[in-house]
This record gives sequence, structure tokens and C-alpha cells, in this order.
Amino acid sequence: MPDRPPPTLRLTVDTGALASPDMASSLRQFSASAGAAVKADCYGLGVDKCVPALRAAGCEHFLVAHWSEVADVAQHIPAGQIAVLHGVMTQEDASYAKAIGAIPVINSLHQAQVWQASGGGRCHVMVDTGINRLGISPAEVSEDVIQSLDVDVLMSHLACADEDSAMNARQLARFKEVFSAVPHRALSLANSAGIALGPDYHFDLTRPGLSLYGGVPRAELADAIRPVAGVEAALLQTRAIAAGDTVGYNARFTAPRDMRVGVVSLGYADGILRSWGEHGAFELGGNRLKMLGTVSMDMIVIDLTAAPDLREGDWVSLPYSLRDAAQQSSLSQYELLTVLGKRLRDSAA
Ligand SMILES: *Cc1c(COP(=O)(O)O)cnc(C)c1O
Repeated sequence: MPDRPPPTLRLTVDTGALASPDMASSLRQFSASAGAAVKADCYGLGVDKCVPALRAAGCEHFLVAHWSEVADVAQHIPAGQIAVLHGVMTQEDASYAKAIGAIPVINSLHQAQVWQASGGGRCHVMVDTGINRLGISPAEVSEDVIQSLDVDVLMSHLACADEDSAMNARQLARFKEVFSAVPHRALSLANSAGIALGPDYHFDLTRPGLSLYGGVPRAELADAIRPVAGVEAALLQTRAIAAGDTVGYNARFTAPRDMRVGVVSLGYADGILRSWGEHGAFELGGNRLKMLGTVSMDMIVIDLTAAPDLREGDWVSLPYSLRDAAQQSSLSQYELLTVLGKRLRDSAA
């Protein structure tokens, strides 16, 4: 096969910001030890880029959701440092866990039975303190099958840590009631937002994800977090349109005057969803280049009024500072990362 020409779109991942001394020290200041959530290919930014940077920053615990995610992460760190949040549902899961050496998070009595039936061994346990998602209930912790587990980290997960909600204190109180009832080596409660709720929430191990990748789940963290992801693409064409002309599918934009527009090599297949439409803008040299009309699968048309010198082949960037981008696109900061499409992720630089 011939070499491919360079792509016309690019995802940039600033591993310096990901594992900056700033970030590492603020994580240390915020918690005794941090375990990084690296599920979903490091929230879309790429395990091969991000995990080595996190390892270099001193991270020793890594969380994925699925067993299918373990092997890629284990290319960079010992499998014994990987926890699998979905736990062991079947005997096949348990056998795989043993074979590869990653640690299951036990989420139910059934999972505890599966794990014990496979011979058991070191595991983590998730207790549900109110999110009602995964986890054994506080009433179940006294069951023999839980009591006989070899529990490394006893954890729970906060539902509303990014809000000032009474739920946070309620979950903290429930966690404290339950943890003396299960023998364990370490305790863990806080995700990124939970870290900002203060030392009461930190325990032995925190579990940041979003904040590592440039997301700001609470204002208190804004100063410690730098953007990590960037999105750039080339102009495939520029064109002059006349007042009254329309742009794109369903003719959603009508030019109010004669104007110059550019066609950017990026679309919803790359994760730039139609919901950006009305408020989204690219940027060049501090100028906003507004998106016009409906986002297509592979193209977005932008207003070049503020950048009259741009030509075919020039590049523009889509500001991907997650707090602002979330407002513009009405997506969550989490979705903005995990929605990034394959073409863009394969182009990561
Ligand atoms: C994804 C996840 C995290 C990380 O959460 P962020 O909000 O991204 O910091 C922590 N704990 C569990 C159980 C998770 O599923």
C-alpha cells in the first residue's frame, strides 16, 4: 500500500498539560493518591498517548470499564494496576481476569459469587450509596460472600459531585456507615468533581477522569486544569456567496449580505455534532469564524468575514476548551471528549 497523504483534520493531545507538574501537584495536594480513569480510550484521547503520561506523573492505579479495554492499557503498565469497573458477570470474565491479572470491581452478590467460584483473590468492591447504578447495597455487605472477599479498595461513587447538592453529604455519611463493616485495605469515593468537595471526600485514593483530560467539573478546579484536547482542520474550499444565498442541508442559513465562506474538513462523523450549529465558531488569530447552517457528516461551512486572507489548504481550529465548548454545543464536557470520531482520533498528534 502507498503511504497515505497527511490528513486534513487533526486532534491534538497536550500530554504536557495532561501530566503537568501543576496537575500532578494539585492531585497530590488534593488527595493521598490518585487513580486515573482511563476507560473509553482515555475518554477518547487515546490510551497510547495518555497512559504513559499519567504513569510518568506518578499515577499507579488505572480504571477501565470493560475487560476488552485491559489489554491496551496493559501495554504500558502492569495489569495488576488496572481495575475493571464493570466487574465479573460471567465465569469467562473471571478466567480472563485471572489470566491477565487485572482486578475486578465487584458490584453485586452475583459478581461476588462468580469471583469466589473462580477461586477469588484480590478484588475491589463498589458499594452503592445512592446513585443506584452499580454496587452492592449497604444492606448486603454483611452477606458471607462479601465478607469472605479479599478486598483491596472499597469504593463508592458520587451522583452529584459537580453540584452543591445535599446528596453529597448524604452519600459521604452512608459510605462512612458502611466501610467499617467490610474488611479492606483502602477507601475511595471521589471522582474529579468529588476531589473539589474537600478533604472529607478524599480518603486513600481518588479517581479523577474528566479533570485529567482538561474538563472542569467544578469552578474550584479551574485554575489547576489546562485544556488538553485541541481540534484543527483544513479548509477544503472557499467561496463567495451572495446576499440571499443559502448554505448547507435544508438551507438553514441564509446570507444576510454578500460574504466569503470556507468549507472545513470536519463534520459530525468526527464528533462535531449538529448541536454545535448555531453557537459554534472556529478561530484564527483571535477571530471567531462562526459555523453557518447545518453541520454535515464531513464538512462544516464557516464565515470567513473576519479572516479574509484564508485560502484553500489553510488550517483553522475549533476551540475545545471544554467548559466553553459545552455551553456552545449543549453537550456535556464528558460527551465532547468521548464523541470524537475515529478519523479524528486516528489523526491524533
Ligand atoms: C468514570 C468514573 C470515574 C471518573 O469520573 P470523572 O467524573 O470523569 O472524574 C470515577 N469513578 C468511577 C466509578 C467511574 O465510573
